[in-house]
Amino acid sequence: MRLKRVIGNRLFGLWGDIRPGSLQIEVTNACNFRCLMCPFHGPENTSDRPIGFMEPGRYREVVRDFRDFGGSLVIPQGAGESFLHPEFPELLEFTKRTLNLSVGFNTNGARVTRDHLRLLIDLGIDEIGFSVDALTPGTFKAITGGDLEPVEQTVKMLVDMRRSMSVRRPLIRVLLVAQESNQAEIDDYIRRWLPVVDEIVIQSRRIQAGRVLEKPRIEPRRPCRHLFDTAFVQWDGEMVICCEDWESVSSVGNVFESGFRSLWRSRIMKTYRSAQRRGDYSPPAICRDCQAWAGGLESRRNENGKEITMTALTRVIRRGKESA
Ligand code: SF4
Repeated sequence: MRLKRVIGNRLFGLWGDIRPGSLQIEVTNACNFRCLMCPFHGPENTSDRPIGFMEPGRYREVVRDFRDFGGSLVIPQGAGESFLHPEFPELLEFTKRTLNLSVGFNTNGARVTRDHLRLLIDLGIDEIGFSVDALTPGTFKAITGGDLEPVEQTVKMLVDMRRSMSVRRPLIRVLLVAQESNQAEIDDYIRRWLPVVDEIVIQSRRIQAGRVLEKPRIEPRRPCRHLFDTAFVQWDGEMVICCEDWESVSSVGNVFESGFRSLWRSRIMKTYRSAQRRGDYSPPAICRDCQAWAGGLESRRNENGKEITMTALTRVIRRGKESA
């Protein structure tokens, strides 16, 4: 079924009808943490976007439409913590059991209960990432305002449950946004988590509303993959061009009013795609100075029992073959 969708998408692409393989859907932009590096909830926030929760019936409509349009992966996250949505477990169940779609998302882990973890395993959720932005409790508190220990316990509980149930899913990763206050902890952080989880992701910090990297990107610019393969829908139905748009400045319309497919295929989206193919990165204005564009150079190496994949935005570390 999934293979059929992938082949279908390739064929549609040949006919000029690009269809999204992934849907990032924000169930809420509310959050219980106030992370320093978060462009939406952190101290540099300039957004006046209202805080809200997607109505479950709307979620089901959009995700079903995405599935019927050929999509395969749902990422139920946005500028908030998805587990704060009171019906998040039911939304996961609908996406996985009713629609049989792949599901992967990130959480800060602070509101995740044992029952949630059990559900993730029972549903066969494909991937989950826990934002664990420091090695030590003091640094974690300074960055997020929250407590490290319960989050670490939750990650370890999921690893133990998965092992005791002899299942392979979900893939479990921890994520850290590198910044001044945690920089000195990163090597020990990798040593600590490498034997525990499947993947460690060290992310570059985005500054200036999430679009300019702390360390400028030097590789030649390319058309951003986000415009071609992933649809982004915010909790109030606004379709924006990507997850970097924390302030909803690039909205192309509202899927609750205009429908998911017609916005994805809209003239404005087509204009953005063809402009990027020609090497013209604005409009939309948000793309002009963006260094967080998706795609680009990737390198892999093995080092001291670690398999490391590097891009301009992330360093992904997994256990290497020698230490398996
Ligand atoms: S170029 Fe940047 S702002 Fe534009 S779609 Fe890609 S990631 Fe988003």
